[in-house]
Amino acid sequence: MSGLTPLDFPEAREALVDAGRRLAQRGLVTGTSGNLSVRVGDRIVATPSGAPLDSLELGRLSVIDLDGTHLSGAVPTSEVPLHLAVYRSTDAGAIAHTHAAVSTAVSCTCDEMPALHYNVLQLGGAPRTARYATFGSPELGERVVEALRDGRQAALMQNHGSVAVGADLAQACDRLELLEWLCELHVEAHRLGSPRVLSDAELADAAHAFENYRKRLRPAR
Ligand code: 13P
Ligand code: ZN
Repeated sequence: MSGLTPLDFPEAREALVDAGRRLAQRGLVTGTSGNLSVRVGDRIVATPSGAPLDSLELGRLSVIDLDGTHLSGAVPTSEVPLHLAVYRSTDAGAIAHTHAAVSTAVSCTCDEMPALHYNVLQLGGAPRTARYATFGSPELGERVVEALRDGRQAALMQNHGSVAVGADLAQACDRLELLEWLCELHVEAHRLGSPRVLSDAELADAAHAFENYRKRLRPAR
């Protein structure tokens, strides 16, 4: 016998380690900024506070319940109130938050991003900015929930960073990366001049086209 107890929630743990490495490789993470979590029933597996996301350790990941009670692992992220608030008010299976540079820059200047590209539809619409509140505070969680209303899947956090939800962590990371791309586009377009914004009718047409696009890709029966 090795004397080691097998870790609980192995899939969630692997997903967190992979996601941390992925976000770091894509340049969305600096040092220990940001945090990630996965919901497994009434448990949440989250990154520890102060952990470098590019090299998370399976056995140090924190397990908490939906009241925020710390059950195992290292001290959980200081953003537990934010993660809990989002899980309580959405059907998210995972949450990713970082201080990605361009998203953070846009969060300082923009309350709601204009729809410059139809890809905002993949985030449930043009992302909003959650009003500033101190990191780790319940107010920040409330403001992020507010910014995610009406099915938004990602939001900017004013003077702080970005956050995205998903059915799983890979999807939350896809959305966080897409938000960073949209923010890069926003900055570049404004650098060049005064960008044209898609109208509601154009977005509705694009939403319709997306439905057909997805149908085409479904295997024929
Ligand atoms: P933690 O290291 O406690 O997760 O804090 C990082 C962070 O991004 C706070 O907003
Ligand atoms: Zn943060």
